[in-house]
Amino acid sequence: GQARNPKVAAWLDGRKPSLLINNEWVPAQSGKTFDTVNPATEQVLAVAAEAAAADVDAAVKAAGAAFTEGPWSKMGPAQRARLLRAFAALIEENTDELAELESLDNGMTFATAQAFIGVAVESMYYFAGAAQQIFGQTSPSAPTNFNYVLREPIGVVGAIIPWNAPITAAVWKIAPILAAGNTMILKPAEQTPLTALRLGELAIEAGLPAGVLNILTGFGPGAGSAIAEHPQIDKITFTGSVQTGRTILRASTGNLKRVTLELGGKSPNIVFPDADMEGALANSLAGFATISGQVCVAGTRLFVQRDIKDEFVENLSAYAAGIKVGDPLDPETTMGPLASREQYERVTGYLDLGKSEGAVAASGGNAIDGKGYFVQPTIFDGVDNSMRIAQEEIFGPVVSVIPFTDEYDAVLQGNDTTYGLAAAVWTRDVSRAHQVARQIKAGTVWINTFLELDPTMPFGGYKESGLGREFGANWYQHYTEEKSVFLKL
Ligand code: NAD
Repeated sequence: GQARNPKVAAWLDGRKPSLLINNEWVPAQSGKTFDTVNPATEQVLAVAAEAAAADVDAAVKAAGAAFTEGPWSKMGPAQRARLLRAFAALIEENTDELAELESLDNGMTFATAQAFIGVAVESMYYFAGAAQQIFGQTSPSAPTNFNYVLREPIGVVGAIIPWNAPITAAVWKIAPILAAGNTMILKPAEQTPLTALRLGELAIEAGLPAGVLNILTGFGPGAGSAIAEHPQIDKITFTGSVQTGRTILRASTGNLKRVTLELGGKSPNIVFPDADMEGALANSLAGFATISGQVCVAGTRLFVQRDIKDEFVENLSAYAAGIKVGDPLDPETTMGPLASREQYERVTGYLDLGKSEGAVAASGGNAIDGKGYFVQPTIFDGVDNSMRIAQEEIFGPVVSVIPFTDEYDAVLQGNDTTYGLAAAVWTRDVSRAHQVARQIKAGTVWINTFLELDPTMPFGGYKESGLGREFGANWYQHYTEEKSVFLKL
């Protein structure tokens, strides 16, 4: 077997390809299955059931019944909070097993998977508490009336997620959707279906009633589009590429679904000469190498002030030389493979494109021969912000270094992109830091830090990086409807 942990090996051996509908594990109605591949070895890791429209129908029926009739519909927020806490505790207890499964299916290192599961657990505890903080309002209406506003769950929510951080992505949908009292259908990405299924088992163990969380493995054009089009799904929340975001938005118009989109990025990471250079270097490296660069907020356009640019590139290359690419389950490894063959081809295509556009690989620049979807961490120097490698999301361990002259130039170039997900700025000058933060068009700006996410802080994109915000003080606005009640006294 490919697993090291005997529990993970037994789980992989014992699994039949199945979907979670109404708390039962059932095969896809078509009987079809698909393989999920270990990106470090290119071996088939497991077989998953391929859901299609009929399975989506069955899941919608279960979720709809759970919403209107089942025990879920009668539960108050305190009980929902209890269930989410029990679920979070089980995820935490099973961290090592889940981390190994994530690592085998996605290719991220075991340590990275553990860290991301930690973030997911904290988020689930946060939303468990937040379930009891969804307040309505009374209205300052005429003395003849007592008017109030109720906040109610929307109904059945479809959640479609990508493959780059599967457990975290799943929990960031499941926790707020259920905290607000909705029921749901989760579709993990076809490249990484396994950890979502394991989460489904833990949800049942935690006591989630039937139909509340249904999990359908399958492809985008099959199960995914059936979810986006389904007339009885009231809301869709999607994390993935801009292109699919557009398709989903169009598909959701039939019944005017509420839509939240968390899409791609090409985030500027701006380094001024007065920055803490060690922090800037370490985080610039994390900015394009974490999960092999397959991170939506990755700081892939590295703007360095012209006078310090060459020295910065030299030092960053030295940092990059310290990355150990290899087997993600080996504790020595700091960067695993890309998650799929498709992604490997995409990234190596961009490595060739960068060279043909005239960029120079100061470090890396090539694929790594042998089995597995491994590429070298790559620093492209001599990049102009108009090049395709500077404008298009590569989603691999590739950073484009672009010089700037002054603050005005950094902001101008930083904003010259169709994306607006995140940005980072490195400087010790407090006013400059805040000025840049204000002028950058992005949903998240990090000052002298990187990749911090917190459920109390809204997350989402400006421009083509998305629609709406998740998390933050107003998180529930995306998963509830408002109802105005007028009462004549
Ligand atoms: P993708 O859009 O191809 O796939 C994501 C999901 O959408 C998968 O589950 C897939 O099966 C499904 N899908 C594909 N076509 C569909 C269709 N026609 N209808 C319904 N569902 C469909 O994205 P990807 O390439 O797998 O993921 C990488 C992208 O995700 C990157 O652009 C990245 O920036 C983005 N991302 C964004 C965030 C964020 O929070 N903003 C987080 C992680 C990843």
